[in-house]
Amino acid sequence: MTFDEFYFDYSLMDGLDAMGFNKPTPIQELAIPAILDHKDLIACAQTGTGKTAAYVLPILNKIVESDHSHLNTLILVPTRELAMQIDQQVAGFSYYVPVSSISIYGGGDGAIWDQQKKALKHGADIIIATPGRLISLLATGDMNFDKLEHLVLDEADRMLDMGFYDDIIKIISYLPHDRQTLLFSATMPPKIRTLANKILYKPEEITIAISKPAEGILQQAYLTYDNQKIPLLGEIFKAQTFVSVIIFAGTKDKVKSLQFELKKIGLKAKSFHSDLEQKEREDLMNEFRNRKVQVLIGTDILSRGIDVDGIDLVVNFDVPPDPEDYVHRIGRTARAESKGTAITFINEKDQRRFHAIETLIEKEIPKLPLPASLGAGPTYSPNSSKRPPANKFFKPRFKK
Ligand code: ADP
Ligand code: MG
Repeated sequence: MTFDEFYFDYSLMDGLDAMGFNKPTPIQELAIPAILDHKDLIACAQTGTGKTAAYVLPILNKIVESDHSHLNTLILVPTRELAMQIDQQVAGFSYYVPVSSISIYGGGDGAIWDQQKKALKHGADIIIATPGRLISLLATGDMNFDKLEHLVLDEADRMLDMGFYDDIIKIISYLPHDRQTLLFSATMPPKIRTLANKILYKPEEITIAISKPAEGILQQAYLTYDNQKIPLLGEIFKAQTFVSVIIFAGTKDKVKSLQFELKKIGLKAKSFHSDLEQKEREDLMNEFRNRKVQVLIGTDILSRGIDVDGIDLVVNFDVPPDPEDYVHRIGRTARAESKGTAITFINEKDQRRFHAIETLIEKEIPKLPLPASLGAGPTYSPNSSKRPPANKFFKPRFKK
């Protein structure tokens, strides 16, 4: 399917082109027609599947086609980062479209507050807001929601986790009853159902199941103690030559220290983390793409959206807490039908987590024997370890 089939306005298609979007993702394919059809919607799909465009595009199209001189759409999101990110996407898509947006979030200094209030006075078609800050602005009485047509709750699960339920209900009390409400979430716990029952009208429901790892990925694991992990990496690189390698670690600090440790065993690696400026990240990604950098070390931010072909090895230096992150991480190799290897290091504490991954992907991953020079590793007994099971609700927040 292509975007042509939605019959979007030409100006919007130009924006899509400029953003490099050629083909809708599965959630977009299903959500866009329902939204264009004025239906309320519950849409559940994992992170990174393109949920933003799934609602932004049809809403922009509806705004373009209407006479719009009023606040048309309110998008509620859990965090300031997400508000800014969505605002940027809206700006990108609507570059050729006469539609304006403002993002409203807490934090920052008084200047930002004044700027947001001023922007609101001037009006906008789309407001992207965190609930707390919006509530404070509602109190100033400057906002007019009379003609609002769309309410979007993005990352609804996270908003509820962060305790925004009452704020959301309060905000909705200011909105017209006759509106289209769209709820997007990565997970569908019971409290989302409760919220949906309260604020949606005969919603259509779309769920995109989590993708399984591609067939071309050879998955392997080693049971290791932490102090065996670096020497093991050394052995792996000695045994085989790799062109492009990504090593994932759980935290930014771990990533930085790994770069240093790897240097000591003669592996030249660069690290990719949130302390780098946007420009530095882009340069690094280009060097990696052009094979000037062989090994890239990163946290899960690297697992979302990096699109480099020919990565032949992914190493999980530790087991990701969220089983879905495992699928994202190893999906960086064996893209587009090619082959790749994914190796996970499992220390004694991570065994249970790893078992949760095997359950999710419905596959047992072979545990290879350690090279003799490293001595014995821990034995595998995932059910006896005392760690709590990996659980979506323990997912570290603010991952992006
Ligand atoms: P989600 O909200 O589901 O986590 P996002 O909407 O943030 O996902 O999208 C993830 C990434 O994929 C973004 O960088 C976005 O620009 C990109 N993307 C989304 N849809 C498409 C598409 N149809 N074609 C190309 N890239 C896309
Ligand atoms: Mg999203």
